[in-house]
Amino acid sequence: MNTTPIREASRHPYPPKVRTLSVISSEKLSPTMRRFVFAGDELEPEFPFVPLTTAMHVKVVVPQEPTGRLEMPMLGERGLVAPEGVELAIRDYSVRGFDADTRLLTIDFVLHHHGPAGRWAIRARNGSRLGVLGPRGYTIYPEGFDRYILGADETALPALERWIEEAPAGARIDAFVVAPAEGRRPLPEHPGLSLSWIEGAGAAPLVDALTAAAQAGDGRTFVWAAGESGIVAPLRRHVQGAGFARSEFDVSGYWRLGHAGSGEHEERA
Ligand SMILES: Cc1cc2nc3c(=O)[nH]c(=O)nc-3n(C[C@H](O)[C@H](O)[C@H](O)COP(=O)(O)OP(=O)(O)OC[C@H]3O[C@@H](n4cnc5c(N)ncnc54)[C@H](O)[C@@H]3O)c2cc1C
Repeated sequence: MNTTPIREASRHPYPPKVRTLSVISSEKLSPTMRRFVFAGDELEPEFPFVPLTTAMHVKVVVPQEPTGRLEMPMLGERGLVAPEGVELAIRDYSVRGFDADTRLLTIDFVLHHHGPAGRWAIRARNGSRLGVLGPRGYTIYPEGFDRYILGADETALPALERWIEEAPAGARIDAFVVAPAEGRRPLPEHPGLSLSWIEGAGAAPLVDALTAAAQAGDGRTFVWAAGESGIVAPLRRHVQGAGFARSEFDVSGYWRLGHAGSGEHEERA
């Protein structure tokens, strides 16, 4: 049995930042997702892009509909203040990458018509602007586990890809992704990766696959999953009931069907 000590998760604060950034390039990842690279003078070289901070996310401020005008909050003494009479659309997005030398930030967007951020991503071109706030802090996930069981829908695919890139080389990774057939695409490689695509129709197939993989906490397995709240809620109940200690899983809702605003993800302490 592996006796490598497990380094527990740690949480790191980061001072508030308000930035207006512009798209300098973009790439079609699949018919349902697009990758955007952002630049801007306000993007600091010390932006925290640290290994195993796979759930790190920023808040994006989406231009107003239908004018396309970008209204930005001000950073006051008591936090962010919206301009008078303006309702801001602010949503959470994972940091897919950051290059400190070029000061370029990469974010992958699911393309959908149901909300302002999804619609922005459908329309955005080089030069399109977006507000980027935060991160307000980040969690470095634990190291030393033998096995990582990962589950994601498309909104959590950027974070899952970071897991595959950043998990220790000797670990076994069982990854399950629920996505429409056209959303399937090559993912990063890892020597211990077993990847299963699950065609998306409701929670059941992903929950079944994950619960079969994560049958019982053994102290050497870490479970991470994120996606639509209704999909991940039964999985959270399963791992809690299957003997996984609180330090051995992180299951987060990234959005909620029928509700505007990002899901009920919890900031790990
Ligand atoms: C920590 C964290 C990281 C995230 N990272 C990413 C990321 O990297 N990429 C990404 O694309 N998303 C990511 N999300 C999810 C994203 O914040 C939500 O999908 C958000 O609701 C999108 O905002 P919107 O303005 O498009 O829709 P909203 O105005 O919030 O919602 C309007 C309607 O659209 C529906 N809706 C929302 N999202 C989707 C969707 N993806 N597909 C279909 N219908 C939807 C809602 O149910 C609602 O009915 C993340 C969320 C969290 C909490």
